[in-house]
Amino acid sequence: MTAATNNHVDVVVVGAGFGGLYALHKFREQGLSVRVFEAAPEVGGTWYFNRYPGARCDVESLDYCYSFSDELQQEWTWTEKYATQAEILDYIKWVADKLDLRSGITFNTRVSSTVFDEDTLRWTVATDTGERVSARFVVMATGPLSSPLTPNIPGLDTFGGEIHHTAHWPHEGVDFTGKRVAVVGTGSSGIQSIPHIAEQATELHVFQRTPNYSVPAGNRPLTPEEIVHAKSTYAERRQMSWRSGGGSPHVAHPKLTMEASPEERQEAFEKRWELGGVLFSKTFSDQMINLDANEEARRFYESKIRAVIDDPEVADLLIPDDHPIGTKRICTDTNYFQTFNRPNVHLVSVRRTPIERIDETGIQTTDAHYDVDALVLATGFDAMTGTLAKIDIVGRGGQRLVDDWADGPRTYLGLGVDGFPNLFLVSGPGAPAVLANMVLHAEAHINWISEAIAHLDEHGYAAIEATADAVDDWIAECNKRAEATLFPKANSWYMGANVPGKPRVFMLFIGGFATYLDICAEVANAGYKGFNLLKAP
Ligand code: FAD
Ligand code: NAP
Repeated sequence: MTAATNNHVDVVVVGAGFGGLYALHKFREQGLSVRVFEAAPEVGGTWYFNRYPGARCDVESLDYCYSFSDELQQEWTWTEKYATQAEILDYIKWVADKLDLRSGITFNTRVSSTVFDEDTLRWTVATDTGERVSARFVVMATGPLSSPLTPNIPGLDTFGGEIHHTAHWPHEGVDFTGKRVAVVGTGSSGIQSIPHIAEQATELHVFQRTPNYSVPAGNRPLTPEEIVHAKSTYAERRQMSWRSGGGSPHVAHPKLTMEASPEERQEAFEKRWELGGVLFSKTFSDQMINLDANEEARRFYESKIRAVIDDPEVADLLIPDDHPIGTKRICTDTNYFQTFNRPNVHLVSVRRTPIERIDETGIQTTDAHYDVDALVLATGFDAMTGTLAKIDIVGRGGQRLVDDWADGPRTYLGLGVDGFPNLFLVSGPGAPAVLANMVLHAEAHINWISEAIAHLDEHGYAAIEATADAVDDWIAECNKRAEATLFPKANSWYMGANVPGKPRVFMLFIGGFATYLDICAEVANAGYKGFNLLKAP
């Protein structure tokens, strides 16, 4: 049997994005037999699917890549500060080829269920192609943002033109030249794609429900000198990232916002503005905790944005007034706000004039009908839990994960779940996940899982299972930390607020990347405190 047909393995990994690929490499190196199942025909995950125009990372390319191999770091050369989707996908494919990962992956195959057998302490993983694989461990590298949401707008299926979701973008691309286009949604995907679509379309109508904060990326080519410097100092750069709050090599201003003089504050905000993007929310360490501090950042932001929008009424609509800055992920753009100065771009506030329905020729709001040839849905994801909920995960005593999580996800450290021994989550709820650089985050999770498996083997244990108390305590800890911040004030996807009927709970660990890693290390060093280690029956 080849690696990719073996149906009795140590580990099944679900997903072949950044997380699943590193898992395959790491577990193989550890001497474990591994099967990876990937629903797509190719590696890449997020970067395979999200091909809309303008798609780029919002963590700098030099940081948004694997750190586990210096050879990879030295051999690959990023061309821009924020890499395009195409370049990131090329990088992931290059890593997959270089480490011979494809031979361990079964593509075009979706895992439909995984069922735990209490007698053998093994999982039976079933796929939509009819495969059954028995595994001791299952690692869910299924991604936090991998279940796109299509809005429930009446008549959507009657639209006569083309419809594209940003997360299911056609591989051959879309040419909007000569077309009238509507974009629904102004989150990161909308904000990145709108300037590009505007350049092609004859008319572009942007349907905005909630305005979002977006900071210019300041994207540019990396100079040869920068590349040389980065490659020669990668060790320090990574060390700083591992010890940081968000997994990239940047630290907040040493003073609290209101302790800094007005000049110091202005200078610090200016510096972060120049750095670009999402890190603006971390200019000062208290910015996401203290409303007055946040308001300082928000005022700075507003003055910057007003300065680039010609029409003050359009600016009023584009500047958020319903949530503190940073409580939803700050978007990272290139000329987003300037795009609304173009004569062919029109902003429709669906707060003021809600969408009533879509019909064959376009979008009907409460006050007008917009005739369009193409519809772009930049409407986001059922984040964190949506993809896991599509897999029938059955633990002890027939307990289903989806039922267990009916009131919100329950995990210990974002890694384990009580009642589901030897099932590990990667970058899932209860971890910092999307609040950190996700490539390092995935590496951290997989390293921890790999060490846990080694520990079980060294000490003659068959399985590891989070205790219910540890899960309860961890949820309480995550909630307590979230409540001490401004994050719960926003109707964000972090809170599940973008999905009708989803429990409103803050799904992430907000205490910072380094703090989280310290906690995970302490748990392991204490003999996996909060986990039961089980002998073979
Ligand atoms: P994914 O890349 O989502 O991969 C999961 C894989 O699992 C997918 O290929 C999927 O097909 C597969 N899968 C799921 N369910 C099944 C199943 N049942 N059976 C088989 N296969 C399955 N994060 C950052 O840190 N920085 C950024 O700049 C950044 N930019 C982003 C831009 C976009 C447009 C999006 C959507 C997200 C972005 N993110 C960013 C978050 C991003 O999701 C992560 O950085 C990272 O790519 C996630 O990797 P992953 O391997 O955990 O999951
Ligand atoms: P998102 O942030 O959830 O944005 C979805 C948008 O669609 C919101 O503006 C939302 O409005 C709107 N919307 C949803 N349903 C609607 C409806 N029925 N009518 C009108 N508007 C509707 O999703 P996203 O933009 O895809 O981004 C998700 C996450 O992916 C980001 O936060 C980020 O973590 C990651 N991402 C990163 C980048 C990057 O820069 N590297 C790019 C893309 C994505 P409301 O706000 O009112 O709900």
